[in-house]
Amino acid sequence: MTLAGKTAVITGSNSGIGLGIAWSLAQAGADVVLNSYTDREEDHEIARQIASETGVTARYIQADLSKGADARRLIEEAGRCDILVNNAGIQHVAPVEDFPTDKWDAIIAINMSSSFHTAAIALPMMRKAGWGRVVNIASAHGLTASPYKSAYIAAKHGVVGLTKTIALETAQEPITCNAICPGYVLTPLVEAQIPDTMKKYDMSREDVIRKVMLDRQPSKEFATVEQLSGTTVFLCSDAAAQITGTTISVDGGWTAL
Ligand code: NAD
Repeated sequence: MTLAGKTAVITGSNSGIGLGIAWSLAQAGADVVLNSYTDREEDHEIARQIASETGVTARYIQADLSKGADARRLIEEAGRCDILVNNAGIQHVAPVEDFPTDKWDAIIAINMSSSFHTAAIALPMMRKAGWGRVVNIASAHGLTASPYKSAYIAAKHGVVGLTKTIALETAQEPITCNAICPGYVLTPLVEAQIPDTMKKYDMSREDVIRKVMLDRQPSKEFATVEQLSGTTVFLCSDAAAQITGTTISVDGGWTAL
């Protein structure tokens, strides 16, 4: 399959799942626009590396997706957006009564509202181009809950709702909108949760991974960045043209429990 001639914007793509998706879409032939809130030489270097290894055009655009205006500017600056992957996300873990308000606001803004702002600018571009794919990286936590992750879970459930709404608004056009719901994937976002959890439960790293993180993941294995990238590329293929408004779980059976 080739995505040559398409431009993909992947939010939060200087690390983890977003970076893997950017590589896979570029390998499938799409020009890619990478993003995060930083503006370091190494961010632009990632784009240069993707361009030189795959032959597509790759750019990095700084935009802080905690701000709606920045999310909109990202798509405007990209100039074209056939494939929109809303991936940027952060996490904070605390009981509701101790959950800092600034963390709540940041998680809702980055993990949920940014997808509304990017889609609002991207959808007219897709209509003009006569083709479009919106892929929202939600979570198993967009379908089910766990304690102490109120903002993340509220935001990810919101993303699943937004996904269905965009799918209905574009149902009679050659545009689809779906959410991928990963279980645990060992990325920097998850790695960062391990030390605190080790302290909290007085557990070894191995026990935190197996008994806490993968407790609800029946496969007892992390999902991988490659599996999520492959699912994203599939959703951009012709085979997925009638798949819209749905969630695809890549969670080792978590949501079957
Ligand atoms: P990660 O920390 O490696 O990547 C997050 C990305 O978002 C980074 O590129 C980061 O720079 C970017 N980002 C953070 N704040 C931003 C901001 N204000 N503006 C722009 N970009 C910002 O984590 P990841 O695990 O690759 O997560 C990617 C997505 O996958 C997230 O939406 C996350 O919720 C989701 N997810 C991850 C897992 C997992 O187990 N890792 C599971 C389910 C869902």
